[in-house]
Amino acid sequence: MTNKLKSSLHGNLVLPTDTDYDTARKVYNGMIDKRPAMIAQCVDIDDVKTCVNFARENNMLLAIRGGGHNAAGLGVADDALVIDLSCMKEIKIDSSSKTVRVQGGCLLKELDAATHEVGMAVPTGILGTTGIAGLALGGGVGHLTRQYGLSLDNLLEADVVLADGSQVKASSKENPDLYWALRGGSGNFGVVVSFVFKLNPVHTIYGGPMLWHIDDVKEMMQWYHDFITKAPDNINGFFAALTVPPVAPFPEHLHLKKMCGVVWCYTGPLDKATEVFKPIRAVKTPALDWVGPMPFPGLQTMFDGIYPPGNLWYWKADFVKDLNEISIDIHVKYGLELPTPLSTMHMYPVNGAASRVGKNDTAWNYRDANYAVVMVGVDPDPANKDKITNWAKDYWDALHPYSAGGAYINFMMEEGEDRIKATYGDNYEKLAAIKAKYDPKNLFRVNQNIKPQMAEALA
Ligand SMILES: Cc1cc2nc3c(=O)[nH]c(=O)nc-3n(C[C@H](O)[C@H](O)[C@H](O)COP(=O)(O)OP(=O)(O)OC[C@H]3O[C@@H](n4cnc5c(N)ncnc54)[C@H](O)[C@@H]3O)c2cc1C
Repeated sequence: MTNKLKSSLHGNLVLPTDTDYDTARKVYNGMIDKRPAMIAQCVDIDDVKTCVNFARENNMLLAIRGGGHNAAGLGVADDALVIDLSCMKEIKIDSSSKTVRVQGGCLLKELDAATHEVGMAVPTGILGTTGIAGLALGGGVGHLTRQYGLSLDNLLEADVVLADGSQVKASSKENPDLYWALRGGSGNFGVVVSFVFKLNPVHTIYGGPMLWHIDDVKEMMQWYHDFITKAPDNINGFFAALTVPPVAPFPEHLHLKKMCGVVWCYTGPLDKATEVFKPIRAVKTPALDWVGPMPFPGLQTMFDGIYPPGNLWYWKADFVKDLNEISIDIHVKYGLELPTPLSTMHMYPVNGAASRVGKNDTAWNYRDANYAVVMVGVDPDPANKDKITNWAKDYWDALHPYSAGGAYINFMMEEGEDRIKATYGDNYEKLAAIKAKYDPKNLFRVNQNIKPQMAEALA
């Protein structure tokens, strides 16, 4: 059976007995140690179809790996056949329609490098090593969210291999129900072999990190909330609590100091940037100010070196509409208690352009939230696993009562059906019905799973 699959594939099939098995099964999060039965390194759409048919016919668990960056490790699974798309990285820009076609194995840094050549960008996330596939199917929050929306708001078309092995297009014209569900419903509906995204004009931005001492976190968070909820779309900035890495080029007197800060990305006219940032700099003199003009891919890859693959990650998340005095005090407490130097809290604005899409226009429900908040425990040492996990859990427990209910699906570990339902809110029933149409037997279930359920059964 395995030999038959191996000989039908154009790409490689990695088995537990192969010398490259341990490399092939590794994902970004060092906490994940899954042992799949086979890893199919697909090179074309026929390989993807072959794997889908094989898993269905042989009743095998099927996992899909785009960039392998998912913190919950949902790109791999024990005893599964993994469809590994990491060899499928074609990127084709169509300058006349201002679109880009990207295959499912591309990383953000690869997409950014290609689109930068033509002075354009797709809004994505803030680390270049993340996969575009999992990121865009779940949402896609980053430096351009306020200006151009989520990644999924820029998705125009997808080529999908469904559970029955057929290949379809999903767009506003073809299979619009599938197109709706793909934009936020994550990997539940099929294997997306390629995506077509809208391109937006972005070249040299004015951005980077601006840090203040952690003692100022309360004042700066209050100011930030007031600022970012009223700021023009062309100023994006996510708030963070962090520890300064003890390496150059960070100034030595700040090494290992806990700080708070904002990572800015201004996409307006460059000749106005200094003026725009004058009042920001006047709020409180930053302890570190690396905000200036830079090519957009420079900002997109700025933190890749600080967060290489292999660290242990545990995170918890929530959508938040408002920041009150009590929730700010909770952030202050846990910001002061960051458990390891790489642990952090990020508060990403999801307002601006992202908030002007209707909550039922795509599967992403929280269009009225101001922030996607994530408390992130990170460390290279397995001995610190409990320390980082407990800090993130305690922080979340304290803050959750002040949240909007659900969380950004891509910032969740495996947290159970109730959390998934809370995230999709009143879009969940429609997602379950679309799942029943396209994947009635739940072949695609290594994900934040939406259980197939026909609409009448839900009534
Ligand atoms: C360090 C770090 C930084 C991050 N930063 C950001 C950020 O700035 N912004 C943001 O929005 N998110 C961010 N994320 C979250 C990220 O969006 C998710 O982890 C996402 O799942 C990564 O996608 P991937 O393709 O790399 O993941 P994978 O682990 O390969 O897959 C994740 C899920 O997507 C599904 N999937 C993957 N490819 C396909 C496909 N082609 N077709 C169908 N389903 C597929 C898989 O089945 C799986 O369920 C970050 C994550 C980490 C760990």
